[in-house]
Amino acid sequence: MTRVRGLLFGGDYNPEQWPEEVWAEDVRLMAEAGVNMATVAVFSWSRLEPRPGVYDWGWLDRVLDLLHEYGIAADLATATATPPPWLVREHPEVMPVDAAGTRLEFGSRQGYCPSSPVFKQHAVRLARAVAERYKDHPALAMWHISNEYADHTLECFCPESARHFRSWLEKRYGSVDALNQAWGTSCWGQHYTNLDQVEPPRKAPGPVNPSQLVDWRRFCSDALLELFGAEKSVLREITPDIPVTTNFMSILHGLDYWKWAAEEDVVSDDAYPDPADPESHVAVALSYDLMRSLKRKPWLLLESAPSAVSWREVNVPKPPGMMRLHSLQALAHGSDGVMFFQWRQAHYGPEKFHSAMLPHGGTSTRGWQDTLRLGRDLRNLAEIAGTSTKADVALILDWDSWWGLEAPESMPSNRLRLKELLLAWYAPLHARGINVDLARPDEDLSGYRVVIAPNLYMCTAESLRTVTGQLVVGPFSGVVDPNDHVHPGGAPGPLKTMLGIEVDEFWPLPDGVTQETTAGIAHTWAEWIRPIDAEVVATYQGGELDGLPAITRKGDAYYVSCLLDDPTAILSIEGLDLPDGVEATRRENYLFLLNHATTPKKVILPTPGRDLLTQQDLEGEIEIAPRDAIVLKESSDTPVYP
Ligand SMILES: [Zn+2]
Repeated sequence: MTRVRGLLFGGDYNPEQWPEEVWAEDVRLMAEAGVNMATVAVFSWSRLEPRPGVYDWGWLDRVLDLLHEYGIAADLATATATPPPWLVREHPEVMPVDAAGTRLEFGSRQGYCPSSPVFKQHAVRLARAVAERYKDHPALAMWHISNEYADHTLECFCPESARHFRSWLEKRYGSVDALNQAWGTSCWGQHYTNLDQVEPPRKAPGPVNPSQLVDWRRFCSDALLELFGAEKSVLREITPDIPVTTNFMSILHGLDYWKWAAEEDVVSDDAYPDPADPESHVAVALSYDLMRSLKRKPWLLLESAPSAVSWREVNVPKPPGMMRLHSLQALAHGSDGVMFFQWRQAHYGPEKFHSAMLPHGGTSTRGWQDTLRLGRDLRNLAEIAGTSTKADVALILDWDSWWGLEAPESMPSNRLRLKELLLAWYAPLHARGINVDLARPDEDLSGYRVVIAPNLYMCTAESLRTVTGQLVVGPFSGVVDPNDHVHPGGAPGPLKTMLGIEVDEFWPLPDGVTQETTAGIAHTWAEWIRPIDAEVVATYQGGELDGLPAITRKGDAYYVSCLLDDPTAILSIEGLDLPDGVEATRRENYLFLLNHATTPKKVILPTPGRDLLTQQDLEGEIEIAPRDAIVLKESSDTPVYP
């Protein structure tokens, strides 16, 4: 991943917020805790270039020297996450404009229009200056471009963004006729005679053309990726051997992370499960599995919270043990390190109440003891760095389809939310210790025993064609083509032959209304379906759909036409019998057993082995303390668990 050996451990370090005499204590304490990497200069543009073209490198030189002296590598940012005030004053047009036409102001962060040529030119110039300055610095281990793209600024509706959108459309369609066809502009009198008439989907009197909205989502993801790519090509040119990352934000609706991950060397993620939610470890496990799946290799948890965050309505701290447990969970799902936001807790700014590895109270705090303990744990686990994960189950996630599904105001029901649909399948698999990959519908899926598409609203003739194991397709799939036009004959469109059914009519259920089936209670959604050559596996019971098929199968291809609390009974894969709250995940011959519950849990080990955390040999039935974990290096090379 980087040239740092073992697992990465550290956090965002913002020395520019502190007097220089504090820095010596910082690095001394980092070394004491075993920190081996710090993310530096993420928001430092206004300090590195206080006036146009005038750089102040001195402080960052000293910070990097100091880190290196203590054996700490730098994940060095290009510092372009927030433009400096002088750039905004000189070029107010770099600030983004919202859908109602309001230009946003300076005073927060991420204040840039993704399509602004002025912003891009200055960002690339700064990235070049930083890379030239530090290309040979021995602390430089990884490049960190910008920060959390699309967190605040996903889209901009300014005239420059409109121009950029039109040129993107011209590349995609070639002509206004093709665009009219793709967007179905014969509806509601939207026929264009010139591409110059096309605008971003600004605030309009009524629902906006859904085909236009899907293209806008594609464009917004691509526009930011272009900005990322512009910085990346400079870094590649100057430091071809230094890996490049940008920190993702778990399963984010706005950016097609498949496309993004293909452009970076290391996938990294910022994850903030809510300690107040007892099930938050399940949803975060799903996003960790996505991060691992994006490049099918280890990734890096680049930001997490040692305890509370500062941006929820109520920011609950992590109780004793949870920070360690959640950190080990990221490793269990393929991360090659644990990094935090941030190293030293800030005294000012919007994140002054966000927890840190070194809290306001210093080294006498519970938080600091947690930091020291995790550092020891990570040293004990160093050998897992680089190990891979094998999964027999793939969950399909496709951003185009997601964008189509969640278009506002024009769907049979706006209660189908993709993250919830994914989680409904993922949670019961997770509870049974079954490793899961995320996958694209058009990639080679022949290596999986089970492929589940919880929803594939938008699909083509190529979608899911390579599945050789069991295929399970959820409701409202195969509905539209990539232009968001309904497939001829209706759903499931290109999946009709594979699944052997036709959808007669969608039957969304109002809030609070349920529908019985022979496979359990359905909620939110049902369908009136008609088998062509599929067998009926389960039927609706009672109500308007009484006796009609709810689940069908044709060979190994299943169609589930409704939402069920636990839909996994039809899967041809066995899991483990794990106590509630215990998570089991495998990386090669390392078995992670994590007890998220607040009571002790007993587990029978499949093979004897050594717990790397305690260095104890274990076998048979063992007890895991509340919020504790075991990382078992199995004696046998042949994994018994799935
Ligand atoms: Zn703009």
